[in-house]
Amino acid sequence: MKNIPYKIPTGWSYSSYSIWSGCPHRYLLEKVMRLRTPSSPQMVRGETIHKYAENFVKGLIRGIPKDLRRFETEFKTLRKAKAKAEAPWGISPEWKPVDFHAGWLRLKLDASLSDAKGHDIHVIDYKTGRVYDTHETQSDIYAASTLPYFPKLRTVNVEFWYLDHGHLGQSPFKYTLKEVQALQKDWTKKALKMLGDRRFRPTPSKETCKWCPHRADKGGKCDAYWKE
Ligand code: SF4
Repeated sequence: MKNIPYKIPTGWSYSSYSIWSGCPHRYLLEKVMRLRTPSSPQMVRGETIHKYAENFVKGLIRGIPKDLRRFETEFKTLRKAKAKAEAPWGISPEWKPVDFHAGWLRLKLDASLSDAKGHDIHVIDYKTGRVYDTHETQSDIYAASTLPYFPKLRTVNVEFWYLDHGHLGQSPFKYTLKEVQALQKDWTKKALKMLGDRRFRPTPSKETCKWCPHRADKGGKCDAYWKE
């Protein structure tokens, strides 16, 4: 696609990569053209529960909200250890920490924690709703992003807390420093490929189009949606 009258993003996030890798055309509609997408009740619920978790970890509320009770002990541990909640991380293309808004890569981890020496880093992501097969891509991006903020790290442990189910799915994912450094190189290539895309081809499939808000048959702008 040529001469798109929109500002092409120069930065990225896990969310934007996830959309682009599923369907570049959806990325065009959502992240380049910035078409509004309606919120679902599940999304609103997820955001509310994430806010409860953030407030609890930061010590802004006293009792544990009922939606967090399956991880009550763990949340109390995060709070006692003064874990960082929703800290805004900006990262440059050289994988150095920068202001969040100036970041080439931007992310807000639900919670992160390190030992006193900054050697062993724990990253936690909260999940609500259904359980997914794996979160390896998300975990890899999170692990790669820890090094700029914890330059003395030796290990990274990424956990996904399924708050509605009381388990960690297939996590934890564990990384050594060497693995984190290799991930940074790998993700630089992947991100540059995404940021250099100017074709934004639709890649319809039963799975990717199923919940896409841009399907023309649901009032959206995409005619290329998967037809049975
Ligand atoms: S409906 Fe399918 S092909 Fe069209 S933008 Fe959405 S995911 Fe892509």
